[in-house]
Formats: sequence, structure tokens, C-alpha cells
Amino acid sequence: MSGGKEMFDVIVIGAGPNGLTAAGYLAKSGLKVAVLEQYVETGGGLVTQEICGFKLNHHATYMLLGELMPPYHDLDLKSWGVKFIKPEKQMAFLFKDKKSLLFFSDPKKTKSEIEKFSQKDAERFEKMYNEFSEMFYEFLLPATYVPPLEPVEQTEKLQNSDELGKKIAEISEMTPIEILDHYGISDKKLRGSLLYIICMFGLEPDEAVGFLVPIYFTRVINSALVKGGTHHLASSLRRVVESSGGHVITSAKVKKLLLKDGSAYGVELENGQVITARAIISTLNPEQNFIELMGDQKDGIFDELRDVAERWEWEEFSLFIAHRGIVGKAPSYPGYNEHVRECLNVVMGYESDDDVMEHINACRQGKLEVKGHGSTLSLFDPLLVPNHVPGEHHILRWECWAPYNADWSYQAKKEFAKKCFDLWCEYSPDIAESNVIVEIAWSPKDIEQHTLTMKKGSIKHGRYSSLQMGYNRPSPECSSSVTPIKNFYLGGASMHPGGMVILGPGYIAAKKLCEDLGIEWKFGEPEMIKRAREKGYL
Ligand SMILES: Cc1cc2nc3c(=O)[nH]c(=O)nc-3n(C[C@H](O)[C@H](O)[C@H](O)COP(=O)(O)OP(=O)(O)OC[C@H]3O[C@@H](n4cnc5c(N)ncnc54)[C@H](O)[C@@H]3O)c2cc1C
Repeated sequence: MSGGKEMFDVIVIGAGPNGLTAAGYLAKSGLKVAVLEQYVETGGGLVTQEICGFKLNHHATYMLLGELMPPYHDLDLKSWGVKFIKPEKQMAFLFKDKKSLLFFSDPKKTKSEIEKFSQKDAERFEKMYNEFSEMFYEFLLPATYVPPLEPVEQTEKLQNSDELGKKIAEISEMTPIEILDHYGISDKKLRGSLLYIICMFGLEPDEAVGFLVPIYFTRVINSALVKGGTHHLASSLRRVVESSGGHVITSAKVKKLLLKDGSAYGVELENGQVITARAIISTLNPEQNFIELMGDQKDGIFDELRDVAERWEWEEFSLFIAHRGIVGKAPSYPGYNEHVRECLNVVMGYESDDDVMEHINACRQGKLEVKGHGSTLSLFDPLLVPNHVPGEHHILRWECWAPYNADWSYQAKKEFAKKCFDLWCEYSPDIAESNVIVEIAWSPKDIEQHTLTMKKGSIKHGRYSSLQMGYNRPSPECSSSVTPIKNFYLGGASMHPGGMVILGPGYIAAKKLCEDLGIEWKFGEPEMIKRAREKGYL
């Protein structure tokens, strides 16, 4: 690419999972695509950094949908080497009385675990899991890859369909806590564990986002890792784009959207370079899209879009991630069930749903609490320690909820990371014996700094509230990718269906743009979507 003006069919702003997905589809459809990324590397939330031979996933780690995502098949990601590792033993909750509660990808095994706490709750868990699983496969998964319906229309469709549709409509406006009550889950330890699972990625326990609960509940305990590190998914998507003739340009921060007579025709980069295209897809957040990129545009639709951005709510709490690369034994947990050490995530510090609520409320008040989960990722994927001796070198990854508004100076961050590892050591004294080669922590402020899209550490680009989901994400005019600005489309996590590595926004944006440009969509429609339509859910 030379300096000056360039003409592409499509510019995609942001090379996160959604931007690369949209670009992959469009490039494979024969369009001339340029992906512009402000950072030195692609990936957005798909970051894996190799330090001293340890591959550290600083951001996204747990893939909730894996092969269930249509782009995995349409873009043939398997042939680009994307493999998912799916541990059978998913989560262990450790309690002070040395009891533990394990969650398996097989719900029958989980049910047996819960029976140790409460026979009745084990049956209720089974009922809830089975119902949620059906809701997920039959409605929520297909709905992730189609534009959202207007809320009243969606509710009517569900209510006029079958029993399952009615059940989805019934829980849709409940909070996660109300859903646990609805299913009669009463054991405090189990309630705490389930609430943690549901809210792990930022769902609020007291917010009426019930329709999301079946997704998070069933998928967090069916999490997969991307073999070789999460960034491998980004680098494979990039190869899809480039092998189809697309351009991926890093260190290219978009400063301004170029507009003429109300239509977008290109972008200006921070370095002054102008790049033009027939259409632009932005995967940025509403503040970036509707205030920063618009420059001094005023009146009419620009005021309305500015209003959308000004009303946008960021997530109430974020995540704190700390890694240690060690030489030593993998953590064991003396006194606890011997299988705890084989679990993907080991959760520490919560005895009940009250403790979970207390932690979230502390975050809301800007206070730090030392509770969360640890994962020895190298146990599941030796490729994460490629230059070391598997079994002797390990990656310990700590993740917990954390407020954006706290002291995140270098010293404060280091001290908090130490406290988190000290807690882990209380349960697993082996860790204290290990030789630490690498230690690095990411605060909510670092998250914001890294991607720019995740303002205030919002890992999903904005709060999940009933007013900011589905048809309202980011606003009724923009939730299906098109915006009131001609040729300007949305395609990132601040659009329906939202954040996480689910590739839905990128998929919907690419499909819509092909339709508008009169390009044949040669990827067909996934069977699950056809089935959901036939059943009248969509
Ligand atoms: C700590 C952490 C842990 C997480 N854990 C998980 C997990 O386990 N599982 C999961 O599924 N999800 C997880 N997520 C969430 C997930 O990473 C995001 O929701 C997802 O990456 C959003 O994808 P996106 O493509 O819409 O946006 P992003 O990933 O934010 O990508 C947007 C891209 O745009 C670029 N950009 C920003 N401004 C500009 C500009 N002006 N010009 C050009 N480029 C620009 C950014 O650098 C970025 O690369 C986690 C996130 C974080 C931060």
C-alpha cells in the first residue's frame, strides 16, 4: 500500500475477533477489504504474549462456544489450525470446611457432586441444566447470529410458540438471583457456586437479564481453551483474510470517519493518511463511533448518535488478571478432593451467594476483595510452555472481579497480585515453594489502555442491562449493524448480541453488508437458525 488515497470495497475498523471475522467473510466473498488496527498486533481481546517461554493469555481465555460458532466452519478455521481443548473437569469450588464442589462438562457427574450437599438441589440442578441447555441450543445460540427483533415482537413470538418458548419468555426478565429462586436452589454453597458461574464474565446478579443466564450457566461449565493460546484464533482469522486477498494493517489508528452528504466514504488515520472505501464497518465502542470518529459533525442524526454514546453505560466491574510462570509442581490441594487439581478453574473465597454478592457490591464501591479463581493452564495445554519442560514449568493464571476506580499504580497492582497468589497458596502450599520466573498483572486500567474499546475495563464494550441488550444494543437504529449514516456499519461487541468471543456481531455485519452491496452470501444459513425459525422463536 502506498501513501495517499486508497480505494477498498470495505474498511473494517479494529482487528479484534469480530473485525477479523467480518473481514474474513467479506474477503472470501470477493470484496477488497482492509482491516485497520491501532495496536501493533491483531487480536483485540485475543491476546497471548510470550514472555521467557511462557505464553500468557492476558485477556480472553475461556471459549464458550468453540465449534458451535458458524464462522468456525464457514471460514474453515480448523484447516488453519484452530483446535479447542475441552477439559472434562471444569470448575472446583473450595470451601473453608475442606469440602469442594466440582462441576463437570457432564451434568450427570455434576449432579452426583451436588448430591453430597443436597439431594433435592441435585434434582433441581438437573432440571435447570436440562432446560437451560435446550433454551441455549434451540433459541439463544441461533439468536446470536441473526439481527435482533424488536422486544415486544420477540416476546410475542416466544409466547406464541411452544412450551420451551414460553419458558424462555418467563425467565427473560428475571435477575440471576431470581432465577436461582425460581428453580428452588436452596443450599447456600451451591447457590454461591452457581451465581459465580453465571456472573463470572460480568452479568450482574441483580439485573434483569434472565435470557442470558442459560448461555452463561451452561457454557461457562463447558469452556474450551484455544490450543497454543487464544491469539492463535486471531492469527488464523487474519490468515483467512489475507489468503483471500484482504489487507490487515496494524499500527493504524483511525481518527475520523470521512463523510460527504451524510454518507461515509473513508477514514482518516492518526498519521493523516486517508483511506477510502464503499463501506466501513466499525467494531469500536459507541463513544468512539459516535463522538470521536464523527469529529465536529453536528445536528440531526449526529446529535442523536452522540446522545446514544452519552447515555451508554460501561460495565460496573471489570477483571484483574495476574500470571506467574513458574518452575515447580502444579498446584495440589491437600485435604480436598484429589480431583480438584485436575479442574480447569479452582474458585476460592466464596462460601455462599451472599459472598458473591458482597464481592460484586465491593467492586461497585471501588473496593478490592481477594477472591476469585486460579487456573494452571499449562496442565491442559503444554504448548503454552513451548520452550520448557512440560510438567516442570507451569503457568498459573489468576482472574477475579475488580473495580475500574481503584488505585492501580504499579505498586498497588503488584501488591494486589501478591495477595491473590497468597490466597491461592493457602489452598495449595506447593505454589509457595515454586521458583517464579515471570510475574505480570493486568488491571482494568491496563485493559482499557490496551484495546481502547474496553473503556473503564468494560470487557464487553458496555454494560449488559435490559436497556443495552438485543434490539437496544447500542440503540434500536443500530443493533442490526446498519446505522443512520449511509455506508457506515457496526460490527463489534457494543452491538447485538454483545461481547465475548462469540463472533456474532462480526457475522451479522458481514452478512448485512453483502446483502446491501448485492453480493451473494455463499455460506448458507446454519441449520440451527432454520430450526429456530420453523419453531417460531425467531
Ligand atoms: C481480561 C479479559 C478477559 C476476558 N475473558 C474472556 C473469556 O475468557 N472468554 C471470552 O469469550 N471473552 C473474554 N473476554 C471478552 C472478549 O475479549 C471481548 O468481549 C471481545 O474481544 C470483543 O471483541 P471485539 O472484536 O468486538 O472487540 P475487541 O476485541 O475490543 O477489538 C477491537 C479492536 O479495535 C482496535 N481499536 C480500538 N480503537 C481503534 C481505532 N481508533 N482504530 C483502529 N483500531 C482500533 C483495538 O485495538 C482492538 O484490537 C475477556 C476480555 C478481557 C479484557
